[in-house]
Amino acid sequence: MAETIKGLERTDYCASFRLEDAGKEVTVFGWAQKQRDLGSLIFIDLRDRSGVLQLAFDESTEKSVFEKAAKVRSEFVLAARGIVRERSNKNKEIPTGDIEVDVKELRILSESETPPFAIDDKCNASELNRLKYRYLDLRRPSLQNNILMRHKITKITRDYFDENGFIEIETPMLIKSTPEGARDFLVPSRIHGGKFYALPQSPQLYKQLSMVAGFDRYMQIARCFRDEDLRADRQPEFTQIDLEMSFVDVEDVIEIGEGYIKRVFKEVLDEDISLPLPRLSYNEAMERYGTDKPDTRYGMEIINLTDILKDSEFIVFKSAIDGGGSVRCITAKGGADIYKRKVIDRLTETAKGIGAKGLAWARLTADGTSSSFAKFLSEEQMSALLERAGAETGDAVFIIADANDANVLSILGALRQEVAKKLNIIPEDKFNLLWIVDFPFFDYDKETDDYVAMHHPFTAPKDESIEYLGTDKSKVIAKAYDLVLNGVELASGSIRITDPELQGKMFDMLGLSKEEAQEKFGFLTNAFKYGAPPHGGMGLGLDRLVMQMLRLDSLRDVVAYPKLQNASEPMTECPAAVDEEQLDVLNIAVKEIEEE
Ligand code: ASP
Repeated sequence: MAETIKGLERTDYCASFRLEDAGKEVTVFGWAQKQRDLGSLIFIDLRDRSGVLQLAFDESTEKSVFEKAAKVRSEFVLAARGIVRERSNKNKEIPTGDIEVDVKELRILSESETPPFAIDDKCNASELNRLKYRYLDLRRPSLQNNILMRHKITKITRDYFDENGFIEIETPMLIKSTPEGARDFLVPSRIHGGKFYALPQSPQLYKQLSMVAGFDRYMQIARCFRDEDLRADRQPEFTQIDLEMSFVDVEDVIEIGEGYIKRVFKEVLDEDISLPLPRLSYNEAMERYGTDKPDTRYGMEIINLTDILKDSEFIVFKSAIDGGGSVRCITAKGGADIYKRKVIDRLTETAKGIGAKGLAWARLTADGTSSSFAKFLSEEQMSALLERAGAETGDAVFIIADANDANVLSILGALRQEVAKKLNIIPEDKFNLLWIVDFPFFDYDKETDDYVAMHHPFTAPKDESIEYLGTDKSKVIAKAYDLVLNGVELASGSIRITDPELQGKMFDMLGLSKEEAQEKFGFLTNAFKYGAPPHGGMGLGLDRLVMQMLRLDSLRDVVAYPKLQNASEPMTECPAAVDEEQLDVLNIAVKEIEEE
């Protein structure tokens, strides 16, 4: 029979005691990390969320207590009362390493089977097994620390926004399906047979309505759901620090966002982020880094070679330029050694995998310059190219040419990252934050020859570009901004449209008929008829923020109960089939699913 804690009261967490507590009687609770039985001596490392404390049993220990200690196995849950004393054999690795507890009373509150893997940070159990026994995995000190840090960050978040006049409003989880770019998770309604709720992709519409409702400043640590094919840095449900402000323009939201970042980095990591954060326009980010989420911890910016090569007879360059595209390069400083033929071949394959027709290259070594294209260029062209590229002995240059300029940029953007990793030039200890602003309002889809909204359709166009809405969509700029940290999009937001007429026009331009727009978003445009303050806001990914701040590589390390890559959760085994009966009341029949 398990013993109880009756009559015992915890003095403090295990790792809170120090040498100055020697002589004190303490009561502690926790899990047996390890039991070492040396015959006449027994040691138990007792672990709770704060850390470990050594319990000691020796000849002076009462016999029944000693015998009980001998029975303890890993992960037994224990209560111990005893006297803190200085250890003879100190352990400098842990904060309580100078002391131990000379145990007077020991209770076994719960026994444990041998756990499927050892509970320590060196454990190399498979991820699947760790997630199956997530409650054991979570006992590991590193995960405990991650979750505690996450708590700390959310606490600072609430404090900061509260101090700045924001109020937390809980928006509903069961909402109308109004996809915001991804697929919705649907929830069938029992009461309204055949109808469905959706889980929110973000609280976007409700936070805007809260501005119409006059709350002025809203924030929420909001759970969002997106039914996407999972990539390494995605979870189907994630947490967003969501905010919205009335009577503001771009600068005001950015200022609040920056203040938050400064505060959280200072309080959690004692890291000083200097403000204002740098800003890049979308176009500049694309030109220089080939992406709208550039990692600015290193240089290797993209260089335009088009003007130098415009008279080149080399068919690859010529057809790209004549076709209205460009020829651009990146220069890998000191890369000639690493990028020998085989490694270049692999990089070429990578480039082809993301849409390049090929990869032109040059290597500058002490023995001279070798390249894939010099024979097609004049000497002047070649030397002008290398000069523009800033290439010196020891460097490697990689060139992409394409009739579609956007392709050239995005391919080089991806290669830039790849090469930087290979050269090991990314300073891992830096936090480089910047805003990307002045996004184009529309994204041009070459395949369908059509324009689609780059952001959600509630984003306002910049005042001075509204005139192009009807004439030249490519010139319309959005009042949107993204916050990027070390090459990862951390936050995204915009100033919203509040003019019902303009909103209608937007829906129209995005291909929604009046009826569809009314059907999907009528409640919002209606609301705007009753006095909508100018407003804007943003959503900041909490999981990503915590992951980046703790310098971790996986979201699964900062989410207590995450899903696997395939969107399943091995511990509870969800998603799972449900009873016929449950489906019946929902008027739902499941089609035959073909086994893959
Ligand atoms: N709803 C947007 C998102 O989830 C954020 C925003 O515009 O405030 O990305």
